[in-house]
Amino acid sequence: MELPFAESWKIKMVEPIRKSTREERVQWMKEAYYNVFQLRSDQVYIDLITDSGTGAMSDHQWAAMMMGDESYAGASSFFNLKETITRLTGFEYVIPTHQGRAAENVLFSYLVHEGDIVPGNSHFDTTKGHIEGRKAIALDCTVDEAKNTQLELPFKGNVDCAKLEKALIEYADRIPFIIVTITNNTAGGQPVSMDNLRQVRELANKYHKPVIFDSARFAENAYFIKTREEGYANKTIKEITKEMFDLADGMTMSAKKDGVVNMGGFIATRLQDWYDGAKGYCVQFEGYLTYGGMNGRDMNALAVGLDENTEFDMLHTRIHQVEYLAKKLDEYGIPYQRPAGGHALFVDASKILTHVPKEEFPAQTLTVELYLEAGIRGCEIGYILADRDPVTRENRFGGLDLLRLAIPRRVYTDNHMNVIAAALKNVFDRRESITRGVGIVWEAPLMRHFTVKLERL
Ligand SMILES: *Cc1c(COP(=O)(O)O)cnc(C)c1O
Repeated sequence: MELPFAESWKIKMVEPIRKSTREERVQWMKEAYYNVFQLRSDQVYIDLITDSGTGAMSDHQWAAMMMGDESYAGASSFFNLKETITRLTGFEYVIPTHQGRAAENVLFSYLVHEGDIVPGNSHFDTTKGHIEGRKAIALDCTVDEAKNTQLELPFKGNVDCAKLEKALIEYADRIPFIIVTITNNTAGGQPVSMDNLRQVRELANKYHKPVIFDSARFAENAYFIKTREEGYANKTIKEITKEMFDLADGMTMSAKKDGVVNMGGFIATRLQDWYDGAKGYCVQFEGYLTYGGMNGRDMNALAVGLDENTEFDMLHTRIHQVEYLAKKLDEYGIPYQRPAGGHALFVDASKILTHVPKEEFPAQTLTVELYLEAGIRGCEIGYILADRDPVTRENRFGGLDLLRLAIPRRVYTDNHMNVIAAALKNVFDRRESITRGVGIVWEAPLMRHFTVKLERL
């Protein structure tokens, strides 16, 4: 018979996790004002709040940490990292930063100015923040299909090239660059096809604009190209990675995602002009050019992580696990954003808690219910996260209201996935009885989701 699938690693070190009683969780949730960001991690059994910086490093990464060179200038760890990035992407210039948003801050300090317009596919919130904070505009040119959560398409993260070309014509001189996020995090970890990246490049050439990839999950994007796009089945992840980056002029990277390290980031580019322009800001905000915001040991671990995570078996293990959880939810009839993304499942709360009015935040209510059910911590990506309209101060109910279950890399087994699915099913089965949600007691004027205080209605 055909051998079943199994993980491409075995476990050498474990971290005990603890279950709790429902009574304890009721108390803790109340003390946390129904905001899971306010829970202590030891009050959580399975933690799916994010896949950022929560991955498990390999024995090779830990070994590389011991060899870290902490020299202030010219550390060998920097050259290890730089050579790995150049080999994988073709980009010659590398600036390390302490995480992804710092890479954005350093590079955009050089590139983005007041009045600029930066088109792209659903800019990530920190990317948008760094554009809008400079009084420029982040223009979303994602394909319309991304908004329909039930549509099964292989590359729902794509850029709509008609929208992009219109922007390039209309705003010509105001556009410093085009930014493509791979995978498209905001659209649910949905990939961008090589064909789409190529079309973006052609438009960029036609209108003489450079292209940046926001690359936090570039390796997962390469995996989806290999498994979904015609002509790529026989190419390696490393070949596909190189082919993707051949279509860009530079990248910003949150290494906490596909670098499989707990902290780190970088800028890489083939343009000397960008490097020379950005390096002063690196020194000002992050540190000297051969460490930026990173320790030598962390740059070493990142170099190994990038190499490991551009191997098919590693990515297959990861994405297979996300798909495994998705299949369980299918079995139980629980609606989520389709198809399953690379790093997370986005459960559609508005289709589950239909009796909870939107003013009482259904996705946040579902997040609370899943925690009370089994100590599983997801994250609301919905109406609370959407903040208020800056002018009218009304809640923004225009977007999707989702519960995100982000899967950390190499951390949980499929048995944990079974527990997550069963707990969600239990909540789903009693959905009709959940008629009230949560109300806001206190909120910050911006980014309220981290600190909002709620009450159960
Ligand atoms: C996480 C992320 C960032 C920001 O990176 P941090 O390391 O969290 O600062 C930027 N873009 C995308 C697509 C991300 O997922």
